[in-house]
Amino acid sequence: MKKAEIVEPNKPLRIVEADLPATPKKGAIVKVAFSGICHSDLHQWEDVIDAGIQKVSMSAALNYKLPIVPGHEISGTIHSFGEETGESELKVGDRVAVYPWAGCGDCGACKHDMSERCREKSKALVGVGADGGHATYVAVAELQHVVKLPDSIPLDLACMLPCSGVTTYNAVTSLLETVQQATLYHGKASVLIVGAGGLGLWSLQIGQALFPAGTKIVVADIDEDKLNLAKEKGCHDTICWSGELTEPELIKATMAKGNGGFDGVMDFVNTKVTAGRAFSCLKPYGMHAMIGLFGGEASFPLPMLVLGGKQVKGIFVGSLAQFKALIELVSKNKLEAPPLTYFNLEDITEGFNLLKDGKIRGRGLIKNKM
Ligand SMILES: [Zn+2]
Ligand SMILES: [Zn+2]
Repeated sequence: MKKAEIVEPNKPLRIVEADLPATPKKGAIVKVAFSGICHSDLHQWEDVIDAGIQKVSMSAALNYKLPIVPGHEISGTIHSFGEETGESELKVGDRVAVYPWAGCGDCGACKHDMSERCREKSKALVGVGADGGHATYVAVAELQHVVKLPDSIPLDLACMLPCSGVTTYNAVTSLLETVQQATLYHGKASVLIVGAGGLGLWSLQIGQALFPAGTKIVVADIDEDKLNLAKEKGCHDTICWSGELTEPELIKATMAKGNGGFDGVMDFVNTKVTAGRAFSCLKPYGMHAMIGLFGGEASFPLPMLVLGGKQVKGIFVGSLAQFKALIELVSKNKLEAPPLTYFNLEDITEGFNLLKDGKIRGRGLIKNKM
């Protein structure tokens, strides 16, 4: 097999020919078809996470050592099963996606299939603490994290579901009860999506599928081209957050788009500016979901949180159950992938550099010959 390793921060990844790893006893080896290049890969490559008040080393924070094979957005086919996997509906050659947010396997969270909440997970995370998918094969420790794909979902789209997909699904479903209640009590609801990039457009499609009919979805961005794309995808209205307006004027203009504010906000940018602005646009009993990891600190008036009965929630990836529900939803609703740019495994460093420079349109994927 071939794999791409981070050997040193910011140095070209090393392409290595290696033997296949032993099949994990309770897991499987997956032959990788596509492996998404994610912003988190860059944090791992640079070995820096912006924690808001300070920057921290990712390898120290998550307790792993280099070299490591990154890549946590994986689709492919099953190559082999571990000797202790027993009966399974899966068979060799099945098309699958990998749920990478694995945990220790032993704690209460893991036993309840909520491994993303495991407190010992760092070494098990596929493509973070354990070797990942920027390779031709990947070992997955637990078979339950290898999820069969319906024929209707192409493998390139599928590799986006374990990370950006499930994060977005988590954001939309976190807002769902709030939006349903606003619809029930006030006749209609409105939702603001901040950021019309890949995740924002996914959230628009998933929101259209799950929010009550009549929910008004408005998209904010600083880029008119991206807002036009959101309009093409069917959002009800957009607002451009660049221009001449003062902050109070911009907040007023944004609230007007939501008929006096928004019951739900999904902030895929989540900087000091967007978080404060979006919070100001929240109606009483609204929920503000924060997803973006662009760093910084936020401030908002605390009495308004209390008096308005508002909720602020951080969203990071999602559960295995949400991952499976998302696969079902994508299959039924034919959700569309953003534009895709393919790279050979050998060209992975070029892919990382292009992503770092903001030069990949849509999503970059490593594509292996199958
Ligand atoms: Zn990712
Ligand atoms: Zn655990």
